[in-house]
Parts: sequence; structure tokens; C-alpha cells
Amino acid sequence: MTTTAWHAVLGRLDLSEGGLGAVPPWWKSLYHHNAPISCRSCGGDLIAVENLSSRYRKRYFRHRPTSESRCRLRESDTEERFFVKHVVASRVRECPGWSAEVEAQGGGWCADVLAVHPDGTRFAWEVRSAADSAADLERRATGYAADGVEVCWATLGRPDWSGTVPTIAIRPDESVGPLVVGGVRALSIRSPGTVGDAAAAISELGAPGAPHYPENESDRPVPWWTWGELMRRREVPPRTSPSKPAPIPVMGSRSGGAVWAGAGERSLGSFVADALAGRLQPVALTGPFRERDRPTSDVVWASRADLGRAMKYVAWTSGWRVLDQPGVACDDCGTGGVLLLRGASDRFQWLCADCDRELYTAARGRAHALELT
Ligand SMILES: [Zn+2]
Ligand SMILES: [Zn+2]
Repeated sequence: MTTTAWHAVLGRLDLSEGGLGAVPPWWKSLYHHNAPISCRSCGGDLIAVENLSSRYRKRYFRHRPTSESRCRLRESDTEERFFVKHVVASRVRECPGWSAEVEAQGGGWCADVLAVHPDGTRFAWEVRSAADSAADLERRATGYAADGVEVCWATLGRPDWSGTVPTIAIRPDESVGPLVVGGVRALSIRSPGTVGDAAAAISELGAPGAPHYPENESDRPVPWWTWGELMRRREVPPRTSPSKPAPIPVMGSRSGGAVWAGAGERSLGSFVADALAGRLQPVALTGPFRERDRPTSDVVWASRADLGRAMKYVAWTSGWRVLDQPGVACDDCGTGGVLLLRGASDRFQWLCADCDRELYTAARGRAHALELT
């Protein structure tokens, strides 16, 4: 069943425009015999269906039995999935500058909602169910990355594939609307061992000594950040761009005490706005982060600010040296003081305690790793 259709005279019809439950002005005209509406994916004939006893899905399009049987949009849909798809489309349209195309297709992918910005940025939203396989989603993720499309999968509940791609878990709420209840993490810096379930912490990276490079896990492009890619860029860009997992050079090994944990609940509208603006970006919590109590590391959503803080932690755990170096100017503020020197790269970076107090304090607190000259 589909939310959109192609009409021989009216062009593209979209039931999500106007909001959930709104009756489009053209709806009544589709009931006469042989209305010329077809599927935008397979071109097969469609029928307009009205079911007012349904909770959310009161109107939709259905393929005629004789049309193409393998069309992806022919598959049955749940009420909840239909609901989430429509709400995501509405929230995208509320974001200044963004438009939403429902059931949009590109090279090798079909987005439930494709958000498009006039500057050319494209951001796909997929609403999927537990019936999908992780392998299928990984194949789709590669397709989005190859086309330079950012993507988020929205799901109700916690399917097996949750976290293998950028995912949010949604819970419909009668009073306040859909809530994002999973998939977003916040960084905290504290002692390892004090965190709850489903948290990821920086852990040992390997034996101290000469620089070495952990192995790549894969070289396929992915539409989320990997730590190797972030470290190479030195600061978090305003938007995600497709990256290939790359190794982080490691000189030493320190336990950092930086922990990613669940960020609590938030409205779907605020999540959509933050993701489209790049204030939230997806990142794989693979090495040097390690999930606690979980067999795999998740792809999660995190704020740009937290990603920036975590990058310094990753650098520090992978071999930044900490030096007391009077007379050298801080790269950020230009003053002197106790500075951190990054050693495991082609460039030194000087940071003062005022600009990076959190990191400096943590380094001091683990004085066995502090090299004072
Ligand atoms: Zn079709
Ligand atoms: Zn400074």
C-alpha cells in the first residue's frame, strides 16, 4: 500500500500533505471507475481505499491485484508504521527551508520520506519493522552513502538490527505525540564502572609503545561517522558525510573514563529538527569505544558538541602526551599555561587548561599517564 500515487492529470498525489487525517481536495475524484492513478515505483494500477474505522490509516492507495507483484510499495503496512511515516513527513515540513517527498526513490534506495534542502542536502528517513534483516539494511546504507544521502531509520520497538545503522526507537504517545526513546546517546566523563546498561566507554586500545594501526573492520562506505574519519578531520563538520572506516593511529593506551549513555526521551519533532540541522549526527561507537553488556557496538546519534569532546578523549587515550610547557601559546585562546601535546599525528596541537579543563582535569586525575617536563 502506498501514501503517494501518480495521477495522469493531477501529477503526484501525496496523502501526507496537510497532516495526518486531512482529506485532500482531490480525494473524492479518485472514486470514479478507472481513475487514472498508478504506482510511482512500479507503474502498476492503484485503487484509492478509504477505511474510516482505522485508527490512523483512514486513506491510502492499494495495488490492483493484476499489477506488478514484486513492487516494494505493495507490501502490507502496519498502522503504526503508516503513522510514523506521516508524522516524520510533517515534522520535516515544519523545518524552515526543508521539503519532504514521501516514497522517494534514488539509485538503489527508496526512502519513506526524503527531506530535501535548497542547498542540495538530502536526508532520507526510513520507517522499518522487525521483519527487516540487518544485511538488507547494511546494503541500503551503502546505497545511501554512495549517493551522498544522510539517513535515519525509525522503528517502533527494538528489532534485531537496531544500531547496525543510524536508528531511533519511537514510542507513540497519546498526549504529547511520538517520542524518541532510544538511539540517542550523551557523553559523560566519569570513572569507568559507574555506568548502567547499554553504555559504551573508552577502553584499553592495545599495548603501549610505538604507534600502530588497529585493523579496519570494513572498507565499504557508510552514511555515519567512524572515529578514524572524525580524527582525521580534527573537528566535527557541520554535517555527516559518507565515510569509510579508517584506523586511528595508537601510540599508547589509557583508560579514559568517557562514557556514552542513553540521552533520555525527546519529541520526534525536536529530533528531526536537530538531525536535519546537523546538531545531531550518527557515529559508530566502535573502537576505541566498547559497549558494555552488548555483543556489538552500535551506531548512535550524538550531539556535535559531544562528538567534539569525545574526539579529544579518543586522541588522549590513543597517545596524546601531556606536557607542562610554559611559554607556548594555546591554539584556541593564545595564552600560556599547562598544555596538551598531541603526538600521534602529523601536527602538534597545544591546548590550555582553561580551554580544555574537562580533559585536563581527567588527565591530571590519572597522573600515572601524565608526563610533566
Ligand atoms: Zn508499485
Ligand atoms: Zn586556551
